[in-house]
Amino acid sequence: MLRKIYLLVIPVVVAAAVVASVVARSGWSSAQAGQEWKIHDRTRPLPPVITPGEPSTGEHAGSPPSDAIVLFNGKDLSNWESIKGSPAEWKVGDGYFEVGPGTGDIQTRDSYGDCQLHVEWATPNPPHGKDQDRGNSGVFLHGLYEIQVLDSFENITYADGQAAGVYGQYPPLVNACRPPGRWQTYNIVFHGPRFDSAGKLLCPATVTVIHNGVLVQDHVKIMGPTAHMQRPPYKPTPEKLPLRLQDHNHPVRYRNLWIRPIPEEGP
Ligand code: MG
Repeated sequence: MLRKIYLLVIPVVVAAAVVASVVARSGWSSAQAGQEWKIHDRTRPLPPVITPGEPSTGEHAGSPPSDAIVLFNGKDLSNWESIKGSPAEWKVGDGYFEVGPGTGDIQTRDSYGDCQLHVEWATPNPPHGKDQDRGNSGVFLHGLYEIQVLDSFENITYADGQAAGVYGQYPPLVNACRPPGRWQTYNIVFHGPRFDSAGKLLCPATVTVIHNGVLVQDHVKIMGPTAHMQRPPYKPTPEKLPLRLQDHNHPVRYRNLWIRPIPEEGP
């Protein structure tokens, strides 16, 4: 009798195990792996609706997405200050601002963490100088990690110091520079580093850069703060810090700067 029961039960258990295995491997289950929502769940909240911006032209700056924080309103530097804490002394023109050579770097008054950042810049035309001494500025994420701004159009310098390079660390994948005087765009996705409560690095900062519509940095792991001739190690930093622009003694222009913080978790 007992043997008959075993003969009945064992095939049922084996069949159940096979079905469970097939279901697990196919991903067909009541909820997607790692997610609380069932697939195509109609009760799942929809993403917020925003209005995307309009692209810039050579003559006119475009508009930011409706949910972006505008860093430059085209008229004044009210969102910026000198890194010494005094008012930013860079010159403001019609819809743009320009590095004030010798006045020092400027930074945003507010601090930002993980973000999408849009920057447009133009180097002086006609160009002056060569190598690093030609249309040099820089976008410092967290005020520490420089995405190089440089006139790299028919201007040779070291690879990890040309435009769109993570300075001293990663050259861009290609040189997508426009000629001096033309407006160029950086679209940047940045995730700051994370540290544990003891200050130990848990994960490095990462950055993706699209230069003039071309992927030039593909989610690279930043090695630490950028610097000339050195690669200093990470030190613990807050998750939000100001964005900094570099005065490298060249009147590089900027316009249409906006930023969108990346939420901790998407909808
Ligand atoms: Mg620079």
